[in-house]
Amino acid sequence: MACEARGPERKPADRIVSAATAAGGLLRIRRAAVDVMLADARRALPNECCGLLIGAAASIERAVPARNLRPSPDRYLIDPADHCAALRAARAAGLEVVGAYHSHPDGVLRPSEVDCREAYYPEFIYAIVAPEPAGGRRVAAYRLQRDAYDEISLRVVP
Ligand SMILES: [Zn+2]
Repeated sequence: MACEARGPERKPADRIVSAATAAGGLLRIRRAAVDVMLADARRALPNECCGLLIGAAASIERAVPARNLRPSPDRYLIDPADHCAALRAARAAGLEVVGAYHSHPDGVLRPSEVDCREAYYPEFIYAIVAPEPAGGRRVAAYRLQRDAYDEISLRVVP
């Protein structure tokens, strides 16, 4: 189901290009935002959770849970009303909605084919979180396109 299943030419490891790094640094994310996403992911089990990421160009300051209009273990659909509310809240704080997050209940942090196909915002940061400790990373971030993805290096900051 992962994006690279579309063709043998896709080699994710070779495609790991950090947009944030290219711009001069890692993408910073607040630990509190990670904690919100992980708590949301556990609450939504066995389904995926989803929400918005609020911040600025090189940092994610907050994660805001949203209603999942398509509750499922492998799909999500952010309630547009919650997206609008997040936009208003972000702008009121002098920030922007810079991305979205959702969980993968199976703990696989790689974007699915559906994730890529339904990624309507090429400028968005798409974070994926794993609700249960799987011995490794709990969060990863990507830029998604219809048939490709690039991982963004994250640095969790206080
Ligand atoms: Zn997904």
